[in-house]
Amino acid sequence: MRSWQPDTWQNFQVSQQANYTDTVQLTKVIDELSLLPPLVGVNEIEELRAKVAEAAKGEAFILQGGDCAELFADCNADVISSKLKILLQMSLVLVHGLNKPVIKVGRMAGQYAKPRSTETETIDGISLPSYRGDLINSANFNPRERAPDPRRLLKGYSFASLTLNYIRTLVENKFADFSLMDSWDLDFVAHSPFEAEYHQILTHIRDSIALVDNLTQDKSRHEIKDRIYTCHEALHLHYEQALTRLGDNGNWYNLSTHLPWIGMRTAQLNSAHVEYMRGIANPVGIKISSNCSPEQLLKLCDQLDPDNAPGRLLLITRFGNKNIQSHLPKLITAIKSQGRTPLWCCDPMHGNTSVTSQGVKTRRFDAIIDELSQAFVIHKEMDSQLGGVHFELTGEHVTECIGGARGLTEFDLNRAYKSLVDPRLNADQSLEMAMRIVQLNQK
Ligand code: PEP
Ligand code: MN
Repeated sequence: MRSWQPDTWQNFQVSQQANYTDTVQLTKVIDELSLLPPLVGVNEIEELRAKVAEAAKGEAFILQGGDCAELFADCNADVISSKLKILLQMSLVLVHGLNKPVIKVGRMAGQYAKPRSTETETIDGISLPSYRGDLINSANFNPRERAPDPRRLLKGYSFASLTLNYIRTLVENKFADFSLMDSWDLDFVAHSPFEAEYHQILTHIRDSIALVDNLTQDKSRHEIKDRIYTCHEALHLHYEQALTRLGDNGNWYNLSTHLPWIGMRTAQLNSAHVEYMRGIANPVGIKISSNCSPEQLLKLCDQLDPDNAPGRLLLITRFGNKNIQSHLPKLITAIKSQGRTPLWCCDPMHGNTSVTSQGVKTRRFDAIIDELSQAFVIHKEMDSQLGGVHFELTGEHVTECIGGARGLTEFDLNRAYKSLVDPRLNADQSLEMAMRIVQLNQK
């Protein structure tokens, strides 16, 4: 096996990186970041890895969700806690309906870098570097703010740390305890078409808890401090490298997040991103699109998970509802033929993006459900496990995706469209999605 260090990726072809003019400052910032404390701990990462292994066997289910791109400006108590609330509400519905533990992983505390399909953006004949996420440049369209600025890496680290600190504070203060689930009620539930169904689930869970309390005469059992894990796309390799540290057990870990993944645009064989991910001991995700052949997938698995280690690899498929049928089955067959046991997840968002006649990027709720539904059926028919889902969502009342029980239309997109990149499910649509997942699972 070739030797590996956190910086050996620099010897490989790297794509989707920022073009810094001031490389002296970049080096200075990376050196500074390398000395700052890690954001997550090795034990938490190993704990998640063990849970991912359970989900791969069908004994747990993983729920990943959050913004396409977090904004520095959104690092505030309301935005963070409402995202957490919607993840918790969805997990309640899933725990109840799927009857298995649900692992909650926020696309949070570090989802600040974005891959882009074009290097530049042109408005009124003026071309500037594309917005690559707050970790790199600003979305404001002027030359000064669009220029990649290395100091943003330190800001990103700080905002990730503040976000994580707040998540931990909420969890430590029982925010995530089932016994306090009534307090997760966001205002929207009161007006949601799913209000009755949601409250019925709460009542059922509350009754079950009371029954256990009465049977065991022990009220402490359900006061679990459930962990909220974090994930982000490991895109900016200098940043990821700076936060990669050697654990006491002799393994290297990315300690900026529990679960890093590589995106469809950077998960190429022998790429710098694959080289980087190869050496860290975190569970790692790969986004799999229609461009990935069975042969490529198997080689990627060999590079990232040579030992077929439990809980190591998540294959996050994102084909689109029109393409899943012609791609997923052959990938499942290939994986099975090698006796591999990765965790299969479905990201029904990224293959289902469309642009309205007004030029607005959106996603249709029905297409998202359709891909998910097909994913469940295909895995079931092939005796494989769909062990998780990956959504772009927010706890806010945005109008970015079309459809759902409230029947949002193209017209509504003008009302509350906030995302600077991909459209997210709003709180209503997210809760509905959790209920639909339960129904799909019962089929
Ligand atoms: C994303 O998750 O925001 C993303 C860009 O995904 P993908 O790499 O699957 O396109
Ligand atoms: Mn996205």
